[in-house]
Formats: sequence, structure tokens, C-alpha cells
Amino acid sequence: MNLTAPEFISNYIGGEWVKPANNKYLDNTNPATGDVYSHTPDSDATDVQKAVDAAKAALPKWSKTSLEDRFMILNKIAMLIDEHLDELALAETNDNGKPLWLSKRVDIPRASSNFRFFATGIMHFSTESHNMEDRAINYTLRQPVGVVGCISPWNLPLYLFTWKIAPALAAGNCVVAKPSEVTPMTSYLLTHICKEAGLPDGVLNIIHGTGPGCGSAIVAHPEIKAISFTGSTRAGKDIAAVAAPMFKKISLELGGKNPNIIFEDCDWKKMMNTTIQSSFSNQGQICLCGSRVLVQKSIYEKFKAEFLQRVAALTVGDPLQDTSKQGAVVSKMHYDKVMGCIELAKQEGGTVLAGGHAVRGTGRCENGLFIAPTVIEGLGPACRTNMEEIFGPVVTLQSFETEEEALALANTSDYGLSATIWTQDVTRANRVAAKVQSGIIWVNCWLLRDLRTPFGGFKNSGIGREGGWDALRFFTEPKNVCIEL
Ligand code: NAD
Repeated sequence: MNLTAPEFISNYIGGEWVKPANNKYLDNTNPATGDVYSHTPDSDATDVQKAVDAAKAALPKWSKTSLEDRFMILNKIAMLIDEHLDELALAETNDNGKPLWLSKRVDIPRASSNFRFFATGIMHFSTESHNMEDRAINYTLRQPVGVVGCISPWNLPLYLFTWKIAPALAAGNCVVAKPSEVTPMTSYLLTHICKEAGLPDGVLNIIHGTGPGCGSAIVAHPEIKAISFTGSTRAGKDIAAVAAPMFKKISLELGGKNPNIIFEDCDWKKMMNTTIQSSFSNQGQICLCGSRVLVQKSIYEKFKAEFLQRVAALTVGDPLQDTSKQGAVVSKMHYDKVMGCIELAKQEGGTVLAGGHAVRGTGRCENGLFIAPTVIEGLGPACRTNMEEIFGPVVTLQSFETEEEALALANTSDYGLSATIWTQDVTRANRVAAKVQSGIIWVNCWLLRDLRTPFGGFKNSGIGREGGWDALRFFTEPKNVCIEL
């Protein structure tokens, strides 16, 4: 099997590669070069209906397929992803603009880990039993939900797409999935892997298109019983408004504005190396990036001087070059949004200490969408720059004196996805971790992921948790059976 990016991407319905019913396509642009290099189906409700029909037809057999057979197929998908690492990584980089070394090291390996993790996970998934002494025994059945919808964003395209579809499939559901229209290629290539691995036709259907044109048709479809969504808080709100009156199960993984809290007693070298990563990895386009850097006053000036030096050394440029630490941001629309946020920060009185401007690419990247890593100081916690998600290579610096002040700054946010705490004092680490209003806390590390742990946010960062048993519970319906003895 040779995975090559086609000029026209197809939908994948009932095991066939098909055109959108309306024959309309969207341009697919490489953000590092500005070239339109392929076209994505601009699907609508007609295509979604066909996908639902195919999923319904496949459901009776797939939901009864033995756990061992499901394991074998999903594990084979993981192996094939590994075998095709180079083609998938290149496709991811061409769609997204991220450095190729990052796609190879993180995005694609994580996609195969997702399949491997849930392939084995389903073999160990057990259900509860509640014994009422000698009166009765209850046991819980966990049956597949049925046809489920999975909708994912552009920042970690295959990584987050597979994070949803792997547990959905492992739990015996049939899936109608939509990747982001901005980065469709790797999910298209995945369809060839699924076919080769023997995933039965109709079990996974992938429809390409926009949120309003295609995603909303998935959300509103009465026969899609659960929606697993990762994306913006704005879209999450719209989805909740449609799904709630239909009593659908929903899992919403939304935006973040994460604090990175640095105390004076931190392990300096480790903190500095990791803070550069947590600020700017993937051009700051990771929902878990620490975009609000909070530094204890006693080390603020020292931190600032060294941080700015390190930021200046981050090479921005052609994502195909190993030397590029930062690639392009994902699209013109997103580029304009991030540049607009930098302007807003200036208007709010912020001082740009580093970056704040576009970077002109060279050679094939002359028309690429590059933004210099940007550091801003001088803004209070409640201004728009510190409250709204930018989702680009932009961080702000704020200082605090006491632990209470640090907590107040950290929790001045409508979001609550993740937080990072840097201190060598384990008692303080535990105390602060318990009080920060976020679903994921890292102490003296960042993005260290155990796939068994609950993943998700407080407040406007979402509803529900992904990962481990949480994901398998989401994609199954519990049914209690009580037997009187
Ligand atoms: P987005 O909300 O614009 O789009 C996400 C996906 O939803 C896309 O596939 C899009 O086509 C679709 N969509 C948009 N509106 C829809 C609607 N009304 N109904 C159904 N589908 C719809 O988000 P994005 O710009 O692709 O991604 C960036 C956002 O994702 C950021 O806010 C980021 O924080 C968030 N994110 C969150 C997590 C997390 O785990 N919490 C992870 C990654 C990204």
C-alpha cells in the first residue's frame, strides 16, 4: 500500500471512496507555502445521511464482534500507522504547517498509540457488580451506544481524530466522523489503512466538510446518539444547544487559557526548557499550551531575561527543515486572528518584549504564514488578552508575590483546561494543585501523558472526560440488571 495525497479527497462511506453528493469542494492549502495542493469535499446533510445509513447497516454485526477480533483489527491499524509514519507525517505537515520532525515524533506515533491503547483496553474493560447481601445481585452491562459522531479540530489532526474514533470503535459502535476541513489529509489516508486492516465496511465512515455544512448535520442527526467533539468553546456551545434537547450523550473538549505557575524554588533549568516548549510547541496551537506565564516576583527579571534569550533562538521557517523549531500557523484566517490578538494586546497597554510580527519565509515558503514567537508583559489578569484564547505563538508574563496571589491569577479565567506548577516544595505543589480550577495539572513537567488518566476541562473548557475507562464509559450505555436471589 502506497499512501499518497490525492488532488481530490473523497468521503469514505460504507467502505467506498465517494464524491460529495453536491460535487462541491473546498481548497486545501499548505500554510507554509500558500499553495492550494488538494481539494476537500464540502459535504452536507445528504452525505451525512448516507454515512448514517452505512453505519446503521454495519452496527448489528460490529457490536457483536468479539472483543478479541476488535482488538486484532484495531491493533493492525496501529501497526499500519507505524509502517506508514513517513507518508502520514509529511501529509500532516503539509496540511498543518507544523515541523515535520514534530509530526514524526509526536502526532503520528500518538495516533498509533491511541489505536493500540484502546485495542488492548477493550480486552480489559470490566463492568460493575453490586451485591445486596443475600437478597439480590446487580450487574451492569455496558453496551455500545450505537451510531456515534466524532468531530475533531486542526491542531493535532490525526492525533485527536484517532483519540475519539479508537475508543468508539473498540466499544462496538459504528462511527460517523468529521475531521477539520482545514487539515483533512491524514484522516483520508487513514481510510486506506482501515481497509487494509480489515475494518468491516460501514463501521467507520469519514465525511469531510465545514462545521456549519457538515458537522452540524452530524450533531443534529436523530440517529446519532452520542457526539464526541474537540474544538472551540464557541462551537461547543452551539453543539450543546442542539444535542441537549435531543438527550444525546456529549463529550466536549474545548478551549483553554492555561496558567504556567513558576515559583522561585523551581528546578530552573528544567522549568526554562519546558516553559519554552509549553509556550510555543506547535506554534502555540495546542489546547494545553501555557499561554499565561505567572512568575514569582523575586525571580521575574531573571526569568524574563533568560526566557527572551531562548525565545530569540527559536528558528521559525520551512517545516520540512530539521532546524525549524517553529513552522507556519495553520491558515490565513487563523494568522489574521493571531495578529489581531497581538494588536489588541498593544491597544490594551501591553508591551511586546519579543516577536509581535510576521516572519517572511524563504524559497518555497515565501508566501507562508509565519509568526514570530511573541512575549507580552504589562497586562492585568482580567483584560481580553489574558482572558481570551489566542491559540498561537503568543504568551503573556505576569508576576505574583504570594501563593494566594498566584492562585488568584491562575483562576481568573473562564477556562479550566490545564495548569503547570513549578516548585520543589512538594507540600506547596499538592496544595496549589488542589486549588487550581483545571482538569489537568502538571507539576514540574508538561504534556506528560498517561492515556489511562481522565482528560478534560473545568468551566468553559468543556464537559466530560476522555481517556482510559472514561472514554470507554462514554461510548457505552450502562444497563443495570437486578436479580432477586
Ligand atoms: P472549531 O470549533 O472551529 O472546529 C472544530 C471542529 O468542529 C472542526 O471539524 C469544525 O469543522 C467543526 N465544527 C465547527 N463548528 C461546528 C458546529 N457548529 N457543529 C459541528 N461541528 C462544528 O475549532 P478549531 O479552530 O478547529 O480548533 C481550535 C480549538 O480547538 C481551540 O479552541 C482549541 O483550544 C480547541 N482544542 C481543544 C482541545 C481539548 O482537548 N480541550 C484539543 C485541541 C483543540
